[in-house]
Amino acid sequence: MNFSDLALAEPLARAIADKGYTTPSPIQQAAIPPALAGHDVLGLAQTGTGKTAAFALPMLHRLAADPKHRLKLHTRALVLAPTRELASQIAASFQAYGRYMKLSVAVVFGGVPIGRQERALAPGVDVLVATPGRLIDLVMKGACDLGRVEMLVLDECDQMLDLGFIHDLKRITGLLPKQRQSMLFSATLAPAIEQLAERYLKNPVKVAVQPAATTVEKVVQSVVHVSQPEKLALLANLLEGEDVASSIVFTRTKHGADRVVRQLAAHGLVAEAIHGNRSQPQRTRALDGFRAGTLKILVATDIAARGLDIPAVSHVFNYELPNVPEQYVHRIGRTARAGRAGIAIALCAPDERPYLKDIEKTIRMALTQAPLPPNFRDLVGKTAKLIKSSPAAAEPPREERDYNRGGRPGRDPRAVVHADGRREAGPRRDGGGPPRSAEGRPQGRPGGPHAQGRPQGRPQGRPGGGFGGQRTGGQRDGGGRRSPAGR
Ligand code: AMP
Repeated sequence: MNFSDLALAEPLARAIADKGYTTPSPIQQAAIPPALAGHDVLGLAQTGTGKTAAFALPMLHRLAADPKHRLKLHTRALVLAPTRELASQIAASFQAYGRYMKLSVAVVFGGVPIGRQERALAPGVDVLVATPGRLIDLVMKGACDLGRVEMLVLDECDQMLDLGFIHDLKRITGLLPKQRQSMLFSATLAPAIEQLAERYLKNPVKVAVQPAATTVEKVVQSVVHVSQPEKLALLANLLEGEDVASSIVFTRTKHGADRVVRQLAAHGLVAEAIHGNRSQPQRTRALDGFRAGTLKILVATDIAARGLDIPAVSHVFNYELPNVPEQYVHRIGRTARAGRAGIAIALCAPDERPYLKDIEKTIRMALTQAPLPPNFRDLVGKTAKLIKSSPAAAEPPREERDYNRGGRPGRDPRAVVHADGRREAGPRRDGGGPPRSAEGRPQGRPGGPHAQGRPQGRPQGRPGGGFGGQRTGGQRDGGGRRSPAGR
């Protein structure tokens, strides 16, 4: 099959040719024909499979086939996505595919001033891409009306549930006309997703591409066993390798990511962190630099593991192994995208071995064990000296850390203090981690997609000390339970 077989509107065919696409990807071949015919679609596919075009092209075709005047505050097509980055990326795809159509595309998400978004929605738009929390805020302000939405997409639905957006989704879908086309995309078909599909889709055509665990076969994966305090020396050595063109280093915690950035700086390696505590301009700047190739190393928490389409990543380093094995698959999915080969190296400390076992079970293969470099002792000594003598590698004063979070020194203004005195980490409406308890543990949703089969009895501390701190304690990515304070 090629794109001409899909008989897409001429402006779309031209835009696809501009992008250099020749054949539709498997998810596109499966989803586009029923979506063009107006059917609801349930798509099982993760980012990297071409799923954005799988829903964007038929939506644009249907908009082109039935041109209408824009109505103030209204939108004809609504796409909901879990994170700011994914929403921006989807909007950019609509703009690229719709470049020869007279199309108005808006994207709205939290963490940035709302006024400009209100102004963008005022005249009405054809396509609105939104994160759920901010969309509700805009609806409540009367800045947008969802009463004439003809097409709805729920993208990365499993992550939306993970992030606790279920109530927002319910509210939003309650505002939509019953008569509409709906498409739901998710990487997994957990029972919670099936329930959503039952509620929001009418006789959907089910399309699926390879499950997450097998889409990463093109990634050359290995693991190096190394103690926690010696990881930085190994990471710096690996990053200095000749074939490392651009890489993402994954950590489990936000402070951990910042610390890696500082310690790499002591090595003369420039890196930027992307995680939930960084402001939107900081995140955008880091991603733009990374996409443009001016920044070679991105240090990320799992918020960056999903949804982001960064085509040229040569290496993924799992500096800390994820405690949810599916997250490993998402992380390494950042490399080997769109047919490219990629390399993923995991740095595994002794207390992370149970995680490694779970990962190997999930991907149904054992990772190749790579040895430490021959002169590793010297490298460790050199790193220790560099870090000791570098002011940049030192822990920043508390005040500076708090200002980085956009707050006043000494306390997180977004924190929620309960009547009984419990304190929760500050909320972030969109793109944060799953809801957390005051102890920093993920909350509830035992039926959530990633809750299933999650191993129990994981190691509770990091006896290796050094980098990373405690696993618990609310340091992981995610802004805590959302509340009105986060609006
Ligand atoms: P997505 O899964 O939507 O994030 O897409 C992953 C990447 O594949 C993006 O960089 C798209 O531009 C690219 N892509 C999507 N469809 C095609 C296609 N049919 N041929 C080549 N590349 C594609």
